[in-house]
Amino acid sequence: KGTLYLVPTPIGNLQDITYRAVDILKNADIIAAEDTRHTRILLEHLGIQGHPVSYHEHNKKEAGPKLIEALKEGHSVAQVSDAGMPVISDPGADLVRLALDEGIPVVPLPGPNAALTALVASGLDARQFAFIGFLPKITAKRKKLLADISRVPLTLIFYEAPHRIKETMDVLIQSLGDRNAVTARELTKKFETFERGTLAELRSGMNENDPRGEYVILVEGWNESMEKEDEEETSWQDAAVTLAE
Ligand code: SAM
Repeated sequence: KGTLYLVPTPIGNLQDITYRAVDILKNADIIAAEDTRHTRILLEHLGIQGHPVSYHEHNKKEAGPKLIEALKEGHSVAQVSDAGMPVISDPGADLVRLALDEGIPVVPLPGPNAALTALVASGLDARQFAFIGFLPKITAKRKKLLADISRVPLTLIFYEAPHRIKETMDVLIQSLGDRNAVTARELTKKFETFERGTLAELRSGMNENDPRGEYVILVEGWNESMEKEDEEETSWQDAAVTLAE
C-alpha cells in the first residue's frame, strides 16, 4: 500500500516550507491539490515538476475513491490545500477517513497554520485554547455555537474572510461581550499586523480602515470575573427598572 501524506504549504511567505515537505512533494507519485493552478505556482517556485490532480470540496466524492484506489495499488499521495495545514478549515478530512478505513498509512507533516501562528504572538493565554475556525453562515447554527462556547474558559480562535469580518466582530461582541481580543492580519506577509484591544475597540478601528487581507480573530476565554460583571450589570438594570417603576 502507498502512503497518504498531509503536506502543509505556506500561508503567505513562500519560504515557510520544510525540507521534508519539499522532499515529499518531489517524490510523491500523485499530488492532490485543492486548486491545481495555485499548487502549480508553488511547485514551480520550488523547482518541482509535478502535475497536481484536483481534490476539493466539490469533487471529493468522485476524486476521493480514485485516490484511494491509487494508494491501494501502492502509489504515494501528497495532499495539499491552497495554504497552511490540510484538513484545518480546508479539504482533506474525508480522504483521511477513507484511507484509515482501508488501512492505508496516513502521515502528517508539521508546518504552517494561521491559527497557531496567530496564537503564539497574540499575548492571550496560549496554554489552553479552542479552535473554532469559520463560524457557520446559518444564523441559528451560529447562535447556538456561540452560546455553547460563551462560557468556555479557553482562548477562542476564529477564521474569517475580509468581507465578512465587520459583521463577525459585531456578532462576537453581541454573543461573548466586549472581551479582550487580538486580530492577526496577513501573517507571514509584508503587511503582517497584530491589533490588540477589546472587541469593540478593534471593531471601531475597522470603520477607519476598511479590513483587507486575511484575518485570524482571537478572543479571551470566559472567566469568573465576566460572570460578576454580567451579574452586576443585570442587578443595575434590575435596580433601574425598579426605580423607573
Ligand atoms: N488550512 C489553513 C491553515 O492551516 O491555517 C486555513 C485555510 S482557511 C480556508 C483560510 C483562512 O485562514 C483565512 O480566511 C484566514 O482566516 C486564515 N488565514 C490563512 N492565511 C492567513 C494569513 N496569512 N494571515 C491571517 N490569516 C490567515
